[in-house]
Amino acid sequence: MTTKTYAGRVYLLGSDPVVRFAAQELARYLKEISGSEIKVAKAKAYNKTREGWWVGLATDYTADSVKPSGNDDVIYVDAVKGHAVLSGSNGRAALYAVYRYLEELGCCWIRPGANGERLPRIAKPQTRRVALIEKPSARHRCICIEGSCAVEHVKAMIDYAAKRGFNGYFTQFRNSYTFFDRWYGMERHRKIKRTPFSSEAAHKHQETVKKEALKRGMMLHAVGHGWTCEPFGIKGEEWSAAGDKVSPEVAQYLAEVAGKRDLWRGVALNTQLCFSQLKVRELFTDAIVEYAQEHPLEEYIHVWQADGSNNHCECAECAKAIPSDWYVASLNLLDEKLTAAGLKTKIVFLAYVDLLWAPRKEKIANPERFVLMFAPITRSYANSFMSDKNSEPAPVPPYRRNKLEFPTAPADNLAMLAKWRRKFSGECVDFDYHLWGSSYSDPGQMALARVIHEDATGLGKMGMDGFISCQNQRVSFPTGITMEALGRGLWCADETFDEMASRYFHKVYGAKGTLVRLYLEEVSRAISRDLYTAPREPEKTEGIGQMRRASRKWLRIAELTAEMQPVIDKGVKSRDKIVAETWRALDHYAWFVVNYADFQRLAWRGDAAASAKYDEIADELDRRLPLLHDMLDTWSLKRQMQHTLWINGLPFTERIALPRP
Ligand SMILES: [Zn+2]
Repeated sequence: MTTKTYAGRVYLLGSDPVVRFAAQELARYLKEISGSEIKVAKAKAYNKTREGWWVGLATDYTADSVKPSGNDDVIYVDAVKGHAVLSGSNGRAALYAVYRYLEELGCCWIRPGANGERLPRIAKPQTRRVALIEKPSARHRCICIEGSCAVEHVKAMIDYAAKRGFNGYFTQFRNSYTFFDRWYGMERHRKIKRTPFSSEAAHKHQETVKKEALKRGMMLHAVGHGWTCEPFGIKGEEWSAAGDKVSPEVAQYLAEVAGKRDLWRGVALNTQLCFSQLKVRELFTDAIVEYAQEHPLEEYIHVWQADGSNNHCECAECAKAIPSDWYVASLNLLDEKLTAAGLKTKIVFLAYVDLLWAPRKEKIANPERFVLMFAPITRSYANSFMSDKNSEPAPVPPYRRNKLEFPTAPADNLAMLAKWRRKFSGECVDFDYHLWGSSYSDPGQMALARVIHEDATGLGKMGMDGFISCQNQRVSFPTGITMEALGRGLWCADETFDEMASRYFHKVYGAKGTLVRLYLEEVSRAISRDLYTAPREPEKTEGIGQMRRASRKWLRIAELTAEMQPVIDKGVKSRDKIVAETWRALDHYAWFVVNYADFQRLAWRGDAAASAKYDEIADELDRRLPLLHDMLDTWSLKRQMQHTLWINGLPFTERIALPRP
């Protein structure tokens, strides 16, 4: 007796390399799902009578699939009775069509990294009816590198990002050095030790990352900080004081602060320039044009000034205008040069700290060239923009050179953006930091996931065209809910948080999904608002007193976790490897969150035992790193814990800013 095994075909239309990748991905997953032989075959033309999966651009079909619409991503899926059309308005949209189709079949993208997806078993996936026409709510859906990362972590993030519908990746700096150095130089050693890590190695990793993003048709965003250093012969790869001395030839171009032209507190990246000098603007813009010429695949180049705040030039010429005026003058000069060089590169400029104050005299001459990036780094993540929108913003304070205080309330930040929008009508994106340092202020993840979702779904109402998430690459401890909230929120602004969250927890934890969600929500409720509103400097003694009083509440986390433990113990015994893995993550988390809450309680009470607790947690994180590194950025977590000890005047073992060997 013979059994006939099904051999299916994925037909590839056209020659777009991203569509080819989409077809390969589809065949790979269908094979795993069905256990059948599924092969990719190149087809000359679409044939609506032939069985199989047809993957192509909208223009490859004579059928009524979607028509292309510029750079916007639109997907079209129509699968019925053995014949499936999967198409997109461009290559990456065809890839999203494939991933959304697979998701409708039951695939679950849990989180980035190993064991981060669960696939259904379906003998005949071709018989399933799936029909989708989707256009993401936000045009720009970009992830930006931050934290500590191995190149594998970034690759895993990009792989996941395409599945979750993100369409851009931002590598930061010319080689992303500082992020890779934190992993290769420190975190991976699992002891208090640092090894040398080279710029060349960082460059190689960055090239790998770009290749992975381009393979999926994602838009590359590049550089950002550094333009104020490298054109002037100063190295600007990381935010540290390298003890560099600058020559008088270079010093003449640096910002004059308190009568001196020198590196700002010794850090090149934080040193502004004397932008009223035409020579400075020429050198600054020449370097950008040269970079754009050498990197034609980088669609978006970020042109930022130095980092840091209250560090602008005080010379008599610079004082004649505010920093954003000098910034816009440089950007207009850059636009002229790019146009003369025939370059279409888009330039992303930044309203950030001192530059939140909109220009008074200057105006962007060619809005088509630019994207305004609003980066409210001083905002609080206790509330979303939308929930804070109805509160009356404080009037925008007058600009006072190098004596600025920055707004924390989202509404106050939005009021400053509104002033910029009166001067610039082009595209605008939110560059935001929910999943950077702040992510550990909500160990339950659920309060933060809600704020992320409200911010992502509210972009349109705020007149913004997208979101760049400046974030740690490993943010899935214990679940991938925050990335799900961000990705889904940018994709579909109409979906509610509850719809998104219930679906996610149900897919990941099955019948126990609601229970897990409630547990994490309780953890968030017990501590996150306190940690989000905690003082960030030791001088804020009143805030420290409040934290001390609030800390009693945090004991609740140990009770909640003890109640949850038997459920977790059962879950880790699941025969399904991926299911067991998701429960194991919760098991590690149960250990962590109880100790972390205890650490916070001790630290905010000023108890010296907090220092030992930090060492205990850090050592245990190191021990568990091989099991946790896909989900948790332990370098960033340790940094945040050290910061908490510092605010409370408690000593700590330095594990983050280790001296160079
Ligand atoms: Zn100056």
